[in-house]
Amino acid sequence: MSDPSGEMRELAKKLLENGEVDRIIGWEKGNLWYQSPPLFITRAEETDRLVFDDFAINSLVTYLLDERDSGKKTGIFVKGCDSRGLVRILQDKQIARESVYVIGLPCSGKKDPRQALSSGASESSQVPPAAKCEECLYPNPVIYDVIIGEAVEAKAKGDRFAAVKEIEAKTADEKYAYWTSQYSKCLRCLACRNVCPACNCRECAFDISKPRILAKENNLSHNMVYHLTRAFHAAGRCVECGECERVCPMGIPIMQLNKKIIKEINDLFGPYEAGVKLDETPPPLGTYQTSDPEEFM
Ligand code: SF4
Ligand code: SF4
Repeated sequence: MSDPSGEMRELAKKLLENGEVDRIIGWEKGNLWYQSPPLFITRAEETDRLVFDDFAINSLVTYLLDERDSGKKTGIFVKGCDSRGLVRILQDKQIARESVYVIGLPCSGKKDPRQALSSGASESSQVPPAAKCEECLYPNPVIYDVIIGEAVEAKAKGDRFAAVKEIEAKTADEKYAYWTSQYSKCLRCLACRNVCPACNCRECAFDISKPRILAKENNLSHNMVYHLTRAFHAAGRCVECGECERVCPMGIPIMQLNKKIIKEINDLFGPYEAGVKLDETPPPLGTYQTSDPEEFM
């Protein structure tokens, strides 16, 4: 893939100079070769800092929530997976479509900085593609005002639910042992929530102190409340961006539960992918009919 950084800088500069946007969110080169953290700029002379290299893996769309009431317009760069997160935020009416200028970037896969660090690699070519990119279904942005670069083919091959089936094959006791061993590692740092485009509530139930839902102490039962609540909150709304699992410092397989829920929804309501079409009808679990069965009541 050719380097689109030049075109990105030129466009961002024009948008800021013309006053079409108040700020731009993209990526810049970090201090180390395997870091390309988010970049926030408001002045045209800063646009030369923008890059789109192997490590521009962070989704930037949740940063739109920080300015949701400001009345300002943001220019934002999105890869395919990020664009589905943006659709999620727009469908949830957390920001207005006209408050964002979307610059799409087809993406042939990114690399994980933590994997670069732990592998002892000394350059990008030695680092394998990030796990979430190996499972990518939408490498091309599903929403944009302008796109830079040529469309690329999706990489994902094989069974999307293979990891779910591994868990399903376990007995109930084995499942309990598996998940409790995973959730007991959780630090409750909330990084997985903070990066999630489906976790876009103005006030999160886990942050309030009256009533307090989660104890301050870290223990297994409260960790399970956190994970199960979050998984059900995102049910039918998870866009499979994989950011929650990627940022978890404890390596908890968060996507395994997310995908289990997606698989169940597909089985119960028919094939469904969240965050793919902006004008689609509400997702399963996001609407109801008066004739819906109520056996669970
Ligand atoms: S990012 Fe990992 S450690 Fe932090 S709250 Fe989420 S699951 Fe727990
Ligand atoms: S739950 Fe994870 S995969 Fe789903 S939208 Fe949130 S961050 Fe993305």
